[in-house]
Parts: sequence; C-alpha cells; structure tokens
Amino acid sequence: MSQQAIENFWQGKLQNLQAKLEKNNFKAWIASDQNQAKSIFWQDIVKPVNPQSVSFGGSMTVVNSGLYEELKSAKGIKCIDTYDTTLPKEEFIERRRQGLLTDLFITSSNALTMEGQLVNLDGMGNRVAGLTFGPVHCVLLVGRNKVVDDLDLAVDRVKEYAAPVNCLRLNKNTPCTKTMRCEDCNSPDRICNTWVITEKSFPPERVKIILINEDLGY
Ligand code: SF4
Repeated sequence: MSQQAIENFWQGKLQNLQAKLEKNNFKAWIASDQNQAKSIFWQDIVKPVNPQSVSFGGSMTVVNSGLYEELKSAKGIKCIDTYDTTLPKEEFIERRRQGLLTDLFITSSNALTMEGQLVNLDGMGNRVAGLTFGPVHCVLLVGRNKVVDDLDLAVDRVKEYAAPVNCLRLNKNTPCTKTMRCEDCNSPDRICNTWVITEKSFPPERVKIILINEDLGY
C-alpha cells in the first residue's frame, strides 16, 4: 500500500471516529500532523476559551508536539508545569493538585474506540482526574495509533502494550519490563492503578479531542 493510501485510509477512519465522538458530546477535530494539531489548538481552542491557566496530564504526545514548551512561554497564561522532573516530591504532588483547578488541562488518551469512547489507565490518578472533573476544559491530543475497534481491544492495548512501554520508558522495576507483557504485578513501581472509561463529555464539549493522522505516543 502506498503511503498516500495509508494516509487516506486513516483520514476516512478518523472521520468516522470524529462523527462518533461528536455524537457522544465531545468536540473533535482531525489534524494531518502535529503542526496542524497545534494550529487547531491555538486557533480553535485557546482563542475562544481564553484560558488564564493551563496544566498537563502525563503525555509524550503533548511533550513531543512542542506544545508543552509553547505553553510554558505563552504570555498571559499561567502554566502549572507538572512535567518538571527536578521537583521535590511534595511539590511534584502539589502541582498535580493545583493542575486540577486550571481553565485548560492538556493530555492524551491511552486508547479511543471506534464507538467514540476514551479508555485510560493511570498510575497516580491526576491525569484521569483532570479528564473527568476539575479543569474547566480538557484537551486531548491523540495519534491514530491509539484507535481500536472496541473496549476489549482498548484494554488489551493499554495493558499489553502502552503500560509495559511506559514502564520501560520510566525505568520502572516491574515484571512487564522483563516479559514485555502485563503480569498484573504487586510491584511498588506499578503504574496501573485507576481505569477510567469516558463514554460522553459532560458538560457537552468540555472534552475536546484533536485526532492526529500520525502515530504518536504509546
Ligand atoms: S500491572 Fe504491573 S506488570 Fe502489568 S503493565 Fe502495569 S506495571 Fe506492568
């Protein structure tokens, strides 16, 4: 299959998903790449929302897109930086608490089903907390590789791929970093603690999703 055919396949699939998401009261856009995703973010979200404060739930997609760096230096927006790895533990936790009171919370989703559901598994819980309640608006940047057909495949994707890869990335001492599959561990380093399935956005369009026609994040 030529590269263009692959892009066209995903464009069609993302359009179907966009329709399902909007039926579920999410606001959704499709971007062909990370740069277009950032344009949508600034033009279609930041402009009308006019946030005074922003924060983040853990997401490699957000960091790698460059949006994190852009927001840190954005004028007139207070950025509660939860990605600063130099923070002492108390500050690390406190910033995550404060991040839940912002106008705009930016993260990704571990998986999206073609029925328009979001599926997430979190370690500390601040990411799924911000997705669920607290920040006035929530924005998700999601690469096409996170899209699966149904809830069973979403759970498989998260447990058998995303979580072990994230454990490897974070140098966690968990059995999945040796076996490359979830062993449902009791390790102190376990990152799989809270599942959240988001079926609809409440209030409508509080959760805004930029679907990106690229493979991004885990
Ligand atoms: S439950 Fe434990 S073994 Fe399974 S993916 Fe999570 S951290 Fe790894």
